[in-house]
Amino acid sequence: MVLVFAESKNGQFKKAAFEAVTYGKKTADALGVECHAIVIGNADNPAQLGQYGAAKVHHLNNSSLENFDSQTYTGCITGAAERMGATTIIVNHSASGKSLVGRLAVKMNAGSVAGVNHLPEMKDGAFTVKKNVFSGKAIAEYKITSPNRVLSLMGNTLKPEVTGSDAEVIVVDIPASDSNLEVISTDLQKGTVAPLPEAELVVSAGRGMKGPENWGIIEDLAEVLGATTACSRPVADTGWRPHHEHVGQTGVAIRPNLYIAAGISGAIQHLAGVNSSKCIVVINKDAEAPFFKAATYGVCADLFDVVPRLTEAIKKVKG
Ligand code: FAD
Repeated sequence: MVLVFAESKNGQFKKAAFEAVTYGKKTADALGVECHAIVIGNADNPAQLGQYGAAKVHHLNNSSLENFDSQTYTGCITGAAERMGATTIIVNHSASGKSLVGRLAVKMNAGSVAGVNHLPEMKDGAFTVKKNVFSGKAIAEYKITSPNRVLSLMGNTLKPEVTGSDAEVIVVDIPASDSNLEVISTDLQKGTVAPLPEAELVVSAGRGMKGPENWGIIEDLAEVLGATTACSRPVADTGWRPHHEHVGQTGVAIRPNLYIAAGISGAIQHLAGVNSSKCIVVINKDAEAPFFKAATYGVCADLFDVVPRLTEAIKKVKG
C-alpha cells in the first residue's frame, strides 16, 4: 500500500497535498496497490482527498498535534504505516516534508529519494524514480531495492487530478505525545496572493533593480497580475528583499505558469529553481544575459522603462 502524508495548515489543505495524493494514486496504480492518505492535526474536510485518489483517509488529531513537530509526526506516520501495512510513503518536498523524509526512512528501514519530480516506474521489476540534479542540468535515476520506500515530491511535479469522490475518513485516536518542542509564537506572512511554492504567476527581480527603493514598479506589476513577488539570491542576501522571496538552487524552487524576471542575469543557480516554469519572460538590457537562452519571451531593454509600461498595458487589457 502507498501512504501519502497530506499537509494542512490552519485546517486547510495546501495545493501540494492534492499533488502528493495524485502522485500517490499514480504510484499505487503502478504497483497495483491502494493509495491511502494520512492527515495529522486540524483539517477541514479530509474526505476530499478521496477525489484525488485516496481510497481511505486516516485522520489523527489531538491537541499535541496542532503544531508540526517532525519527531512526533514521524511517529504518527510510521505507526500508521505499520498498522495498515504500507510500504511506500510519500511526503511533499516542503519545509516539513524535508524534515520528515530522512527520519521516516530510518524508522522504516527504507530506501529513500528526496525531491523526486517524475512518476515512478517499474523497470525490470525494480521501483525506479528520477529527480533533477546539478541545478537541473542532469536527471538522476534511482532504483529502490528495499521493500520499504520513502519519497519526497518536488512541488509542481504534476497537477492535482480529480479522479474520484470523497473517501471514507477513519479517525484514529492516539494518545497525546510529549513533544520536545514548544511553539512560542508564529509570524504569519500577510497578503492574499499565493505563497511562492504554490504560485501560478510570479514577478521576480534581481540586482538590475539597483536598490530596494525601486521595488515599487515590481510590486505594481505583481499587483495588477495578482502575482507573487520573488527575487534573486544576492537581492535577499543584501537585505533588499526578504529571504522567503529568494528563488533558485538555494532558495525556493518554483514552477509557475508565468515567471517574469526583470534585471536578473540568469545564473545557473537561479535557473535551477525557476527553469521548470511554463512561460518565462526575461527583461534585461544586456542581450548577452544567459537568461535569454531559457526565456520563452525576451525583452532586451531597460527594465525601468519596460516594467511600468507593461503594468499599464495589463491594466488596460484588464480594465
Ligand atoms: P547580476 O548577476 O548582477 O545580474 C543583474 C542583471 O541585471 C544583469 O544581467 C544586468 O544586465 C541586468 N540589468 C542591470 N540593469 C538593468 C536595467 N536597468 N534593465 C534591465 N536589466 C538590467 N542565485 C539565485 O538567484 N538563487 C540561488 O538559489 C542561488 N544559489 C547560489 C548557490 C551558490 C552555491 C552560488 C555560488 C551562487 C548562488 N546564486 C544564486 C548566485 C548566482 O550565482 C548569481 O550570482 C545571482 O543569481 C545573480 O543575481 P542577479 O541576476 O540578480 O544579479
